Amino acid sequence: MKTYEAIIGLEIHAQLLTQSKAFCADNAAFGDEPNTNVSAISLGHPGTLPKMNKKSVELAIKMGIVTHCQIDKHCYFARKNYFYPDLPKGYQTTQDKTPICTEGYIDIKVGEYIKRIGIQRIHLEEDAGKSIHDQDPFDTLIDLNRAGVPLIEIVSKPDMRSAQEAAAYITEIRKIVRYLDICDGNMEEGSLRCDVNVSVRLKGETNFRTRTEIKNLNSIRNVERAIEYEIQRQTQIYEAGGTIEQETRNFDPVSGTTSSMRTKETAHDYRYFPEPDLLPLQIEDSYIQHLANSLPALPAQRYEKYTKELKLSDFEATTILEQKEISDYFEELVKVSQNPKQSANWVMGPIKTYLNETATHIQQFPLTPAHIAQIIELIIQDKISTTAAKEVVFIEMLKNPSLSALEIATQKGVLQQSNTEDLKPLIENIIQKFPAQVQEYKNGKTGILGFLVGQVMKASGGKANPKLVNQMMQEALN
Ligand code: MN
Repeated sequence: MKTYEAIIGLEIHAQLLTQSKAFCADNAAFGDEPNTNVSAISLGHPGTLPKMNKKSVELAIKMGIVTHCQIDKHCYFARKNYFYPDLPKGYQTTQDKTPICTEGYIDIKVGEYIKRIGIQRIHLEEDAGKSIHDQDPFDTLIDLNRAGVPLIEIVSKPDMRSAQEAAAYITEIRKIVRYLDICDGNMEEGSLRCDVNVSVRLKGETNFRTRTEIKNLNSIRNVERAIEYEIQRQTQIYEAGGTIEQETRNFDPVSGTTSSMRTKETAHDYRYFPEPDLLPLQIEDSYIQHLANSLPALPAQRYEKYTKELKLSDFEATTILEQKEISDYFEELVKVSQNPKQSANWVMGPIKTYLNETATHIQQFPLTPAHIAQIIELIIQDKISTTAAKEVVFIEMLKNPSLSALEIATQKGVLQQSNTEDLKPLIENIIQKFPAQVQEYKNGKTGILGFLVGQVMKASGGKANPKLVNQMMQEALN
């Protein structure tokens, strides 16, 4: 069988986190009572005039800066004409010939390699309303709250070659929009939506073959599944001597297959023309500079810092960076504790477990970084064992955050015995009690040391400092 390769490009729509809609003052919030945030402007009634939401321009430019795009300082909007029940104006206000950002890239990490994926354009546009097909047995219902909510559409170059690369690309884009606080990145609720273009060709070919577009992918996993299926489907058709039709396909998450929705309209059908009711945008250099200066540290920068400066492993850094708020918490904790390794252990261990088990967001986590830093300090000073820290002090502190870690450790009797004078008699006792094991040790079976240390720990009720006991036991035996 011949070797095929896949050519994949992604179009991602991200709903911008603005208070109001793109071209009017209607509330842009998600989840309000249907059709309550709908003015005459959202409906496109005759005589109404749209007005640009400055915040949406700001967020689009920020995305462009971070993805190394050029910002078009003189861009304008266009009408994309088509009829759809949830598009009451009969056209979508978007950008056609003058997208606000062009020619950028992001670097993605796929397993062990890093790949640069080009971004062709990012343009501003408005969302349509929402047709609801599953609430009434006979009719389709329409909620126009979403009509006019600002979006950016991020169009990648066809640079991806596998489902894994596409998944890594979306993951990175989602991370960036979340760190920039320009979109909540929620694919299930549809605030981040992804359409995928896939074609295959023989390895070594330079021309692109006909592609299909897959819609309605509401999770990164489903994007991967849809691409894998589509690659296989197209390859089989070529192998059987067939041809691929340019069309839009729908992914069914239950069967894991795609099926034809409609043959693709060409862009020509939309009869784009410049929006006569909106002034062109004039963006000053100083404004772009101002936005560039106000950007927060991004995941890629933080990754560098975590792995190089703080000496975390790739796995630790990646896990902590998955969520911006977790990463913020970690940074605070490192500041107070001065111990990156322990901070990483606590964020990835007990804290994450607690959040998962209680379905809590880190913002609702009852313990501040200062609290956790107190526990870390007790561990570093050998005053409590890691086990006691996790199982006793942490758990008690969650119940009573007003107590200090030291107060809890004292009350619960988990402070370790680190006084050599107190430990000496315990060690001597054990040596006398287990002469056979002591002899084995002296004969060179040094592994028996663990057993003897364990006996001392047991005799101390688990309170002895194991590191110290280990050291003292060795000295006593030698
Ligand atoms: Mn679009």
